[in-house]
Amino acid sequence: MPPVEEWATFPFDGDMRPRALRPPLAVDPPRAGTGGVDCDSCAAPDDGCIWTSERWRLRPVDGPHGLPVILLLLPRAHYGEPGDLPDEMARELGLLLGRIDRAVRAVPHVGRVHVCRWGDGGEHLHWWFMARPARLDQLLGSFAAIWDDILPPTPSEIWDENLAIVASELSSTN
Ligand SMILES: [Zn+2]
Repeated sequence: MPPVEEWATFPFDGDMRPRALRPPLAVDPPRAGTGGVDCDSCAAPDDGCIWTSERWRLRPVDGPHGLPVILLLLPRAHYGEPGDLPDEMARELGLLLGRIDRAVRAVPHVGRVHVCRWGDGGEHLHWWFMARPARLDQLLGSFAAIWDDILPPTPSEIWDENLAIVASELSSTN
């Protein structure tokens, strides 16, 4: 095991060892919605979004999670990589990242918002906003995303309240 095991933020205890690294595949596995074909994000209605604009949608992930707020920001149109966005949308994205970060930080007891982009599952570009609770020092840093799968779900009334706070902030600010 690498010394990551000794980090205060490492979520696991006990005997562990890294998995053997398999040889590379011939090509990367295909992503869901490749080329916009059968893409769930393209087909999703605006229902459930907490904020929308002409070109963007912001929606929570399904159901309460361990972290107190998790949101996804997606362009309405099908783009894969951040570098595929036209300049006008890239500029807009920069402003939105800041605006959404501020809105999520308005939720009580949120210490920081991790703004993340992975793109290996679904191809449709999606940015993660993961609220990291304040003062739980084991949740600092990138393991917060793993802790999200370990912690008990946020009580649903608090999850809904948190989303309502974010929605209210976004409706009242630019
Ligand atoms: Zn799509």
